[in-house]
Amino acid sequence: MVHGMPNSTLEASPNAALNKTILPKYMDLPIPEGKIQAMYVWVDGTGENVRAKTRTLDFIPKDPSDLPIWNYDGSSCYQAEGGNSDMYLYPVAIFNDPFRRGNNKLVLCDTYKANGKPAGIHQNGISSLRPEDTNKRHSCLKAMEAAKDHEPWFGIEQEYTLLDMDLRPLGWPKNGFPGPQGPYYCGVGANKVYARDIVEAHYRACLYAGVNIAGSNAEVMPAQWEYQVGPCEGISIGDQLWMSRFILHRVAEEFGVVATLDPKPMPGDWNGAGAHTNFSTKAMRDENGIIEIEKAIDKLSRNHLRHIQAYDPKGGKDNERRLTGRHETSSIHDFSAGVANRGASIRIPRGCAEQKKGYLEDRRPSSNCDPYSVCEALVRTCILNE
Ligand code: ADP
Ligand code: MN
Ligand code: MN
Ligand code: MN
Repeated sequence: MVHGMPNSTLEASPNAALNKTILPKYMDLPIPEGKIQAMYVWVDGTGENVRAKTRTLDFIPKDPSDLPIWNYDGSSCYQAEGGNSDMYLYPVAIFNDPFRRGNNKLVLCDTYKANGKPAGIHQNGISSLRPEDTNKRHSCLKAMEAAKDHEPWFGIEQEYTLLDMDLRPLGWPKNGFPGPQGPYYCGVGANKVYARDIVEAHYRACLYAGVNIAGSNAEVMPAQWEYQVGPCEGISIGDQLWMSRFILHRVAEEFGVVATLDPKPMPGDWNGAGAHTNFSTKAMRDENGIIEIEKAIDKLSRNHLRHIQAYDPKGGKDNERRLTGRHETSSIHDFSAGVANRGASIRIPRGCAEQKKGYLEDRRPSSNCDPYSVCEALVRTCILNE
């Protein structure tokens, strides 16, 4: 126990309690020439959490296709019965590893399972395999390829909440509540924000990794934060956001803090957490693109339910707790749109309305959404007219 800090994270988290001066001695060891570590990262059966494991390689991968396909135990990731548990990891994006540095890599993978009975022999093509249920990338990629000429861009605002090991928001009184919301958004000061260390470490780690992180800010509820990824074109938004989430969980782990993407971690008069998705096509960004933005909003208005189903991992159940029509959200039951309106499903940023071009912001996606599902739905509704 750290003296003077009873009930604290430092006491409750074995990770935080470890002596942090010992590890660098080992991380500095010279390792055999040409060997690197590649940490494969994938989405598990919850559709919300990530898993990771490492292998040694004797070359530096430049392209995902350089990397070996690998497998893992799906039955331990809420993804399969023990009798047919081999799942396959297909590398799709490579990032620099901010934890191990050097030539070491983080490798984002999507997941496949055998079609029907156990495959037996490892197949080197996905024809005999099918995407795992939580592999939302596979169909998203098809939509992105079909919509490629429209150059769809996405920027996602990832909100999240830091929790103590007892799963109460970090820094909140154990037997009470902080003062009401007001001073915390973009706040500065020890009584306004908690654990900026994690936010800063995560930001720098994302930049080092090659994630296109655009910014960060403290949020309305104390211990809640946001960062933005984008604009990214096509499928890369999902790849980058998933890797940024992995990095967030990994950084927070070192500090002994839990980062949750739950969309409403505290019921009551506390803001929930979303993943506002900013979206544009080439036509929207061109002169008078506002006409295209309005056309897209019209299509979105006629597909509200489809989007709600795609905007959280439980088909709308998670967002039911968040999209109440209060706390800067719209009601889950209604579609609405407006310039600078933070209580609408879709907001046209004021600057875009003034310039008559730019992008729209879909405020409905839940913080724990799968960005592949969200962006696929936007593309299918607004571009492919499906
Ligand atoms: P908010 O005012 O809603 O808090 P943020 O500044 O947090 O907005 O996020 C807006 C995001 O919109 C930026 O991070 C950026 O990635 C994204 N963005 C900017 N321009 C475009 C565009 N033309 N198309 C898609 N996304 C965009
Ligand atoms: Mn924002
Ligand atoms: Mn926000
Ligand atoms: Mn926003």
